Amino acid sequence: MKCTRCGDRATVELRRHNAAFCVADFLAFFRRQVSTAIGKYRMFGREEHVLVAVSGGKDSLALWDVLIEEGYETSGLYLDLGIFEYSVESQAKCQAFAAARGVPLIVSVVADEVGGPVPIIQRVTRRPPCSGCGLYNLDDEAATLLGSVLQWQTDALSRQSPALPSTHPKLVRRVKPLYRLSEQETAAYAFLRRIDYIVDECPFAKGATSIAHKEILSRMEDNSPGAKHNFLFGFLEKGRPAFERADTVTLRECERCGQVTTGTICAFCKLADQVKRSS
Ligand SMILES: [Zn+2]
Ligand SMILES: [Zn+2]
Repeated sequence: MKCTRCGDRATVELRRHNAAFCVADFLAFFRRQVSTAIGKYRMFGREEHVLVAVSGGKDSLALWDVLIEEGYETSGLYLDLGIFEYSVESQAKCQAFAAARGVPLIVSVVADEVGGPVPIIQRVTRRPPCSGCGLYNLDDEAATLLGSVLQWQTDALSRQSPALPSTHPKLVRRVKPLYRLSEQETAAYAFLRRIDYIVDECPFAKGATSIAHKEILSRMEDNSPGAKHNFLFGFLEKGRPAFERADTVTLRECERCGQVTTGTICAFCKLADQVKRSS
């Protein structure tokens, strides 16, 4: 197989793009997809400082690597969820990554902020803890979309976007520059760039419905390459506008901590109370 760009021997085949690339052209393709995402949704400019939420997994570290290579000013943010060995190991990966590139990494410990680590929070709230975690790539976004469509969650559909604008002075813009790239593509990028990431899934992700949705979509993708891409991109271009409507939610500041909330006490303070009561 030959590289679609330069004719050299291809290393990575991308069936959904009907293309194959050598290492250099694959890396260039990957970075171009990130730049396109940033430009298309006006995610951020060169003059802005970007905070990259990193888990130690392939997606977040691959994204951080691209942004550094492209010359953006960045800081990493790692949330220590307190999930035993998994958290210890993933934090070490993030620290090694940041140290090797001379970029700052902020570590925030959930147990210090909320009063207990994620395993305790899960026991107290009996809620699956995954919903709060980062969604990055095309596969994540397509699986989330499938879940929302299966239940016709119109609120979730109106909010699903690669870029969520700030709706309050205290809320930051949130963006997903990897939404155009699949899990396999980010894995290939991380491998070719020799990024040392945590391969294991978070132990709390086991059995999450999003994993079942990913499997369904992957079977469709096997039968017809590009199915995932068309599902997600078609929604963003044609479907989402139909669900968007004027945001009628009034945002206030939490009486206790000042964070933005729709009620009087924010979800974060409520959670901290719940954890405190149970201990
Ligand atoms: Zn090439
Ligand atoms: Zn609060």
